Amino acid sequence: MEITPNDTHNQALVRYTHPSEWQNPIPSGRYNLVVIGAGTAGLVSAAGAAGLGAKVALIERHLLGGDCLNYGCVPSKALIRAARSAAEVSRAADFGVQVPAGSRVDFPAVMERMRRLRADLSRHDSAERFSKLGVEVYLGEARFIGPTTIEVAGQRLEFAKAVIATGARAADPAIPGLAEVGYLTNETVFSLTELPPRLLVLGAGPIGCELAQTFRRFGSEVHLIQRGPKIMPREDPDAAAIIQQRFEREGIRLHLGVKVIRAEKSAKGKRLVGESEGREWSREGDAILVGVGRKANVEGLNLEAAGVAYDANSVHVDDHLRTTNRRIFAAGDICSTYKFTHAADAMARIALQNALFFGRKRMSRLVIPWCTYTDPEVARVGLTEADAHGRGISVDTFTVRLDEVDRAVLDGETEGFARIHVRRGTDRIVGATVVSAHAGEMMGEITLAMTRDIGLGAIAANIHSYPTQAEAIKKLGDLYQRSRLTPRVASILRTILKWRR
Ligand SMILES: Cc1cc2nc3c(=O)[nH]c(=O)nc-3n(C[C@H](O)[C@H](O)[C@H](O)COP(=O)(O)OP(=O)(O)OC[C@H]3O[C@@H](n4cnc5c(N)ncnc54)[C@H](O)[C@@H]3O)c2cc1C
Repeated sequence: MEITPNDTHNQALVRYTHPSEWQNPIPSGRYNLVVIGAGTAGLVSAAGAAGLGAKVALIERHLLGGDCLNYGCVPSKALIRAARSAAEVSRAADFGVQVPAGSRVDFPAVMERMRRLRADLSRHDSAERFSKLGVEVYLGEARFIGPTTIEVAGQRLEFAKAVIATGARAADPAIPGLAEVGYLTNETVFSLTELPPRLLVLGAGPIGCELAQTFRRFGSEVHLIQRGPKIMPREDPDAAAIIQQRFEREGIRLHLGVKVIRAEKSAKGKRLVGESEGREWSREGDAILVGVGRKANVEGLNLEAAGVAYDANSVHVDDHLRTTNRRIFAAGDICSTYKFTHAADAMARIALQNALFFGRKRMSRLVIPWCTYTDPEVARVGLTEADAHGRGISVDTFTVRLDEVDRAVLDGETEGFARIHVRRGTDRIVGATVVSAHAGEMMGEITLAMTRDIGLGAIAANIHSYPTQAEAIKKLGDLYQRSRLTPRVASILRTILKWRR
């Protein structure tokens, strides 16, 4: 197996995660657990089971570590960090720091740093490490050949329980001509060694937005193309509006409400042609990056033989993550709308307990936050105001703008806000959105409050170091406390204080 560019870093990555000399074990007897797919969900399931003393097999057809390590979180966040550095340099004068003219991004060096860090991190997910943890690692494509049997690389594995953790991949946007002109996905964009001067990004969800800003900051002319009227359609509209304004200021060309109908080669590159508001629309670029959603990796598993129901988007599971075969569970992107590494991890723990110990852990009990790592970041947990209305839940909403938070002012990072929705008349949190440079880090406190049923009033009593941007969360608690000071309560307090003079 070879990952391009075939340099020492990628060779190390492959050596750890799909070693060419790897000898698959010879199966001996029935496994307590067989796990298919060694992304986050598979690795967590297998390591957890081995740690509990189970006889466990883990099967991977490509690179251990899955999307997160190889084609997702890890490489994208390494690039985002480099892009932030570039953005800091370009606004250094705002802080009184004069940077000599002529600073530029060395794209090959940025990519090499990413490949080096990815290879370093890949040790944690290596076949050798998992083998030492007591997991029997098989490299090859797995397929069911019966309700309790899986075949891999010519061997048959019998199992008491199995976990399907085969993840998802970039959905094909089915645009005529696109395959012929060629396009990048998350599986190929991190192999680039030259910066595309003009990049057309299809899809303004989390992946499209993160990479559009990153490549713009590296110096590409970036066109972000979205079929709907807004970027980040799943997020609080005020959050999306802040990111949209920032993108426009950074020079990302936004094309909203565009239906792309074909792709073709042009004299100087590739062209997307479509329509917008009834008029023909077209843009030319040197590369096209597709981020229009994810598709479940169900093909080739022969799920019919195991009696596991599925469709193109997921393997079907109940709230206990059990499939239609009671011995088989699923976890991670293959069966979830929460397509995040931390969600895959949490689901794997549920699947493991339910599979091995007759557990009754429920997916619906999880409180799963997420974050889009644009600058500023957009972090979410639970419902937006619109979601709450859609479910008939009345909410009170509290918002603190970052220009009211000293640390954000001092950092020059005042674009953003923290917003919490509570059930009307109570301090029970049903959802929150934070837009800030550190939104992902700030969301932990709110998620804990929701998980442990801690009210917004209690957050007001939690002391936050000054000055931090997380003080925005405490200020939300203060806002809630003040909202309880009705005219009647205020009048009673005034009377008591008068009496005590
Ligand atoms: C560009 C990008 C950035 C992202 N950034 C973030 C982020 O910042 N934070 C975050 O939380 N999430 C992020 N994600 C999402 C995250 O990567 C996924 O949610 C996570 O990897 C899902 O883990 P998984 O174990 O379910 O699946 P995967 O990681 O996809 O692993 C599935 C594995 O199964 C293997 N497999 C499939 N079929 C078979 C078979 N038949 N036999 C054997 N093996 C098989 C695959 O080769 C793969 O290795 C990002 C995703 C992308 C694409």
